[in-house]
Amino acid sequence: MIVSSVTVGPFAENCHLLMEEGSRLAVLVDPGDEGARIVREVNAAGAQLQAIWITHAHLDHIGGIAAVLREWKVPVYLHPLDRPLYDRGAQQAAAYGIPFESPPAPDLELAEGDALALGALRFGVMHLPGHAPGHVAFYGHGMLFSGDVLFAGSVGRTDLPLSSPAQLERSLERLAILPPETQVHAGHGPATTIGDELRTNPFLSRVARIARR
Ligand SMILES: [Zn+2]
Ligand SMILES: [Zn+2]
Repeated sequence: MIVSSVTVGPFAENCHLLMEEGSRLAVLVDPGDEGARIVREVNAAGAQLQAIWITHAHLDHIGGIAAVLREWKVPVYLHPLDRPLYDRGAQQAAAYGIPFESPPAPDLELAEGDALALGALRFGVMHLPGHAPGHVAFYGHGMLFSGDVLFAGSVGRTDLPLSSPAQLERSLERLAILPPETQVHAGHGPATTIGDELRTNPFLSRVARIARR
């Protein structure tokens, strides 16, 4: 698998392109802004876009969807508990005073334990609420696309509408027991590994200590 990332918009959101080697079948995780630039990246990679997978529906993760869909009619996957946020993208953007193009309705509902296919590759869906109620991560092939649950050195905010600190804690407990060599590609900031975060991230190491008791 080939993973490339483009960092977009005023929130410096990481949009990830996952592509199967050989077939060049690909998905976009969180085309959050600058859709025209993301389209150029997909074309430059020679990728055959199959789908858009959304970790959660904060505006910085969904603002590029409309432009991508104008280029390719591919299905958009979202957990239904984030549909209210998705439908209020324009209001979210207005609160920050930034331009936003509302995406069409999502096509398919994600659920905990789903197996998503990309050619012969398979990714599991982990429902990890806390930062957002319908937040999911995509896990497979030694990689975790963690959205805004886990970052290098930090974790997702829980002071937002529909956030839940208690739920985030439980979600982090699940991530703390993934193999330490798991590569973490987050929605913001650099890539990391579960092991590095267990050593250096005070939020994840605290959760892991509590979970071991
Ligand atoms: Zn977010
Ligand atoms: Zn974000």
